[in-house]
Amino acid sequence: MQNKYDIAVVGAGPIGGNIAYRIAEKNYKVAIFEQKKQIGKPLNCAGLVTPRVFDFLDFSENLVVQNRIKGANIHSPSGYTLTVGGDKVHAFVIDRIKFDQEIIKNSRKNGAEIFLGNKILSAQKHEQHIELLTSEKTEFSCKLLIGADGPYSKMRDVFSLPRPTEFLRGIGAEVTGTSLNPDFVEIFVGNNTAPGFFTWIIPMNEKGTKARIGLCTTQDSSYSPKHYFSNFLKNKHTSQYLENIKITKYIGGVVPLGALKTTYSSNMMLVGDAAAQVKPTSGGGIYTGLLCAKYCSSVAVEALQENNFSFRFLKKYHRLWSADIGVELNRGMKFRKIFKILSDKQLDKYILKFQNPKIREIITKYGDIDHPSKLVKPLLKKVPSLLRLIPSIIKE
Ligand SMILES: Cc1cc2nc3c(=O)[nH]c(=O)nc-3n(C[C@H](O)[C@H](O)[C@H](O)COP(=O)(O)OP(=O)(O)OC[C@H]3O[C@@H](n4cnc5c(N)ncnc54)[C@H](O)[C@@H]3O)c2cc1C
Repeated sequence: MQNKYDIAVVGAGPIGGNIAYRIAEKNYKVAIFEQKKQIGKPLNCAGLVTPRVFDFLDFSENLVVQNRIKGANIHSPSGYTLTVGGDKVHAFVIDRIKFDQEIIKNSRKNGAEIFLGNKILSAQKHEQHIELLTSEKTEFSCKLLIGADGPYSKMRDVFSLPRPTEFLRGIGAEVTGTSLNPDFVEIFVGNNTAPGFFTWIIPMNEKGTKARIGLCTTQDSSYSPKHYFSNFLKNKHTSQYLENIKITKYIGGVVPLGALKTTYSSNMMLVGDAAAQVKPTSGGGIYTGLLCAKYCSSVAVEALQENNFSFRFLKKYHRLWSADIGVELNRGMKFRKIFKILSDKQLDKYILKFQNPKIREIITKYGDIDHPSKLVKPLLKKVPSLLRLIPSIIKE
């Protein structure tokens, strides 16, 4: 066997790229395999992240940040609006293609080798190593395999790991010709707008003249995502934001929800979207994936140091990420369960109720896109009457 590596990472998305960067930094031999010929393309992301994402990366946010977001206007089905935030920068809009490219550039600098246009077709486990076959008919071997191959992970299936609970279908576009408040994202909820999720308008520049727009729907929605997207463009509440726009690029993709109960096997770990390490309330997977990548790479380095790639040893990775973000992701799935059954009438009612300045103040103070459950306790403490409003939460 010619091509021997300590670590093989399948998938050169931000999560695989960051893991390769961290392990190659410790002078191990790392290969990254990517089925696409170009990093980051085509775009399948809205590119909204919290500033803490850059705590995991060693390049300046200024390289990729296109706009800074201070708050959100959340619109109910009948057109009531709840404004939250506005006090400080809560999120960045990033050039996601450049973001992925910077991550890979840095992993290369650390010595990781990248094989573009190489889809991993099979992974076969032997006693001491894993053999990989690529679409270029080249054979590779590694001591430890890291599956960072996205929502429909093949590595997950090859190693018989569980599947995510749910897949959302996303559709969107980059547009020009908007005249938005550049500090705020616009969010629309409603069963005719985006059943089981929401639509978004995210200003992409400081003038508010460019935006990423889009939505996700559940797999069992009555109509296709395309249907909801074309309604979104002409809906009476949303169209005022989208008059005279020109679509410059389409966006699509899948969001896996319901983090896996097992994310490792002997000689392999699964991370990022492949492990559904995604926030169920927003569909964001960059922060959570990078957080789990940190644990995945530190356990990989320990495994290499001790030459121990057993199922028992790699369990540490699962324990570490679960202890950090596992509870938050599970709570997110519970909120989602409640959110999915709310009627348009209830959505109107709650958004109206939340317009109360006392409640908005709490949301602005404690609201955190990465840790939404932090909001629940202070909200209920300050406004106990909310318990009466949300009987399904009480049950949960
Ligand atoms: C419409 C939409 C909007 C989103 N908006 C946001 C947002 O605003 N903020 C946010 O945080 N997240 C967002 N996300 C989620 C975010 O894009 C993902 O969580 C993130 O890309 C996960 O990174 P990853 O590296 O795990 O997987 P991916 O980025 O999917 O990368 C996996 C890579 O593996 C490659 N691959 C797959 N199989 C193989 C194989 N067999 N061999 C070789 N290569 C393979 C793929 O080509 C791909 O490049 C959005 C997702 C969608 C669909």
